[in-house]
Amino acid sequence: ITTSLTQISMQNIKVVVRVRPITRTEEEQNVKNIVKCLTHKEILMREKKYAFDRVFKPTASQIELYVNVVAPLIKDVISGYNCTVFAYGQTGTGKTYTMTGDKCSIIKNWKEDEDAGIIPRAAHHIFHELDRMKISNYTIKVSYIELYNEEIRDLLSNDENTLQLYNNDSKGLIINGLNEITCYNSADVCKELQRGILKRQVAPTLMNHQSSRSHTVFTISLASTESNIAGEDILKYGKINLVDLAGSENIVKAGCKDLRAQELANINKSLLTLGRVIQSLADKNHKHIPYRDSKLTRILQDSLGGNTKTVIIATVSPSHTSHEETANTLEYAMRAR
Ligand code: ADP
Ligand code: MG
Repeated sequence: ITTSLTQISMQNIKVVVRVRPITRTEEEQNVKNIVKCLTHKEILMREKKYAFDRVFKPTASQIELYVNVVAPLIKDVISGYNCTVFAYGQTGTGKTYTMTGDKCSIIKNWKEDEDAGIIPRAAHHIFHELDRMKISNYTIKVSYIELYNEEIRDLLSNDENTLQLYNNDSKGLIINGLNEITCYNSADVCKELQRGILKRQVAPTLMNHQSSRSHTVFTISLASTESNIAGEDILKYGKINLVDLAGSENIVKAGCKDLRAQELANINKSLLTLGRVIQSLADKNHKHIPYRDSKLTRILQDSLGGNTKTVIIATVSPSHTSHEETANTLEYAMRAR
């Protein structure tokens, strides 16, 4: 059973890479572009080739990425499966741009904004698809959390309490006190996203430090009932987790020996464990999956492995100044396949 489950998981983990454009500042500094997209599956950097399920060039649009990477998951969510999309990469390579879009685009009508990211697009797509399938008996809820230093903060709550995880016998793992907001259309979802983004930014002095070291998980969950041919109601629960991970520079030193205390403190436990979980899922001989070793993987346990679908979007900079980080990201991403 274990073997067949991991075989399913292997097919169910997809890894894509997105290369961001050279920024104007980088252009002024005359940085060299060292990342070359050879085909839609291969990247060449300094004479080394890397292969993935899909590669997105700097010119790839938000729509192109959404249609190819996330859209195929929506029918699974409606059918009652759990899916997870991760943005993984060095700070400044486009994780938040990919997941959320530019902040102002959420306030505006995102449909007219080509910079809108995965979250507003997925929200719209789910409502649209339910409508198209003539499913009217459903509830959509969203939640939005931030994980920093293994502490959980509810971005949709009005207080600053941190939330605790509990194992509940009947319901499995629960995040005690988590706000789950019912949404009636995609504008409601965007409003909650916007609220969470604003809450995340309340402490500007901490922001840079914290935002590169914290993970955010935006979850859209769907409960629906459909009648089968016999006229019986079938209840389905599915969800999609959209995860903006901490900057991958917080993990690279973890492989080294001789770490000083300061460096040890920089290692992000959830990011490190996520890598181990994904690698164990991708390795068909691996039996123990270390979900319990970090908060992030505990929270996502019901959405990683088994019948779930996972997509990792590894974001990289094309600049020679990021060469080492980019190599690390590409290696991490290749191992996950
Ligand atoms: P991260 O979340 O990984 O730290 P950001 O998403 O904040 O990175 O991106 C850094 C900057 O680069 C932002 O100004 C963002 O708008 C821009 N950017 C990132 N990816 C792209 C892209 N594919 N196309 C255009 N601009 C991008
Ligand atoms: Mg970011």
